[in-house]
Amino acid sequence: MNTLKDSFFRVIDYLRLSITDRCNLKCIYCMPSNGVPPSAHQEILTYEEITRIVRIAAGLGVRKVRLTGGEPLVRKDITFLISSIKKIQGIDDLSMTTNGTLLEEYAEEIADAGLDRINVSIDSLNPEKYREITGGGSLDTVLRGIYSAEKAGLKPIKINMVPIRGFNDDEIIDYARRTINTDYQVRFIELMPSGSVDFWSPGKYITTDEIKGIIETIAPLIPVRLRRNGPSKYFRLKGAKGVVGFISALTHHFCQDCNRIRLTADGKIRPCLFSETEIDLRSPLRNGEPDSEIKRLLRLSVEVKPEGHKILSQITESRNQNENTLYPTIRRQQFSRRPMSKIGG
Ligand code: SAM
Repeated sequence: MNTLKDSFFRVIDYLRLSITDRCNLKCIYCMPSNGVPPSAHQEILTYEEITRIVRIAAGLGVRKVRLTGGEPLVRKDITFLISSIKKIQGIDDLSMTTNGTLLEEYAEEIADAGLDRINVSIDSLNPEKYREITGGGSLDTVLRGIYSAEKAGLKPIKINMVPIRGFNDDEIIDYARRTINTDYQVRFIELMPSGSVDFWSPGKYITTDEIKGIIETIAPLIPVRLRRNGPSKYFRLKGAKGVVGFISALTHHFCQDCNRIRLTADGKIRPCLFSETEIDLRSPLRNGEPDSEIKRLLRLSVEVKPEGHKILSQITESRNQNENTLYPTIRRQQFSRRPMSKIGG
C-alpha cells in the first residue's frame, strides 16, 4: 500500500474536496459582507474530474475524503459523486461537512450512496442568534436534519462550533453538556483569520485553553484517543457518552499533526489552508494530460506543504510594530485572498 509523506515526514492521507463555492447561508465570519461572486459553471470541476483526481490520489496513499464547500448539499446529483468516490479502491472513509440545512431532505439518499458520516456546523443553539450568524438560517431545520442523519446511520455525528467572544461564548457549556447523553462529538474550532476579512479581529477569537477552562468549570476533561483524529484533540466529560474536541488552528499543536491537502472547487490543490500556494490541476486535466502528470502534481503539492503557519506570531509582531495599524497590517499579511467558501473549510 502506498504512503504519501511530505517533507516533514507527515503522512498525508486526507483529501478535503470543495465541490462547490456556493452556499445557502452567509455565516458572518466565513462570508465577506459584500458576498462572493460564484464561479462560473465551467470553472468548477465536473464530478468526473473530481473522481479522477480522487482515484489518482488514492493510488498515492489518500484514504480519507471529505466533501465540503461552500455547502456541498447545494450541488446537484451529489449522490452520484458519493457513490463514484465510494467505489474507488483505497478510500475507506468518506464524510461531509455541511451546514445541515438540506440534511432532512438528503440524509437517507447520501447514506445509501455510501457516505459514512457527517460534520454539521452549528454556531448557536439559540434560534435568533443562529439566524443572525448565518444570515437567515433556521436552527429548527438543521436540528431536524441531524435527526434524519442519525436515523440514516450517518454516525458518529460531529457538531462544529466556532466560539466568538461576545456572541456565542456563553453557549460553550451548553454545547459541552450535549455530549453527556448523546454520542455526539462536539468540536470547538478557533476562529481563524480567513474567510470574512471584515469580521475577524484579535478580540473575537477565543483560544482553546480558554474554551477548555470554561468547560472545566462543570467537570474535568479526560483525554481520549480516537482513531485517526488528525489535528483535533478529544476529551470526555466524566461519564459522558460523547466527546468534546478542539481544533486549535491558531494556538496549538495543529500543524505537526496535519494530514491533509485540499482541492478547491475550481481545481486547485491547496497544501495548507493558510498558505496562498496552489497547484492547478484543472488545466492539465482539461488539456488531456495522463494520470502520471496528475500524480506528479499531487506529489509536488505534498512536497511543498509548509511545516506550519505562523499566523499567531505574525499577529503579535504586527501588534508590537504599531498598535494603530494592527488591523490593516493583518489584513495584508494574513488574510487569505480566497474566502473560505472558495477554498473549502
Ligand atoms: N457549508 C459547510 C458548513 O457550513 O459546514 C461546509 C463549508 S464551511 C466553510 C466548513 C467549516 O469551516 C465550518 O465548520 C465553518 O464553521 C468553518 N469556518 C469557516 N470560516 C471559519 C473561520 N474563519 N474560522 C473558523 N472556522 C471557520
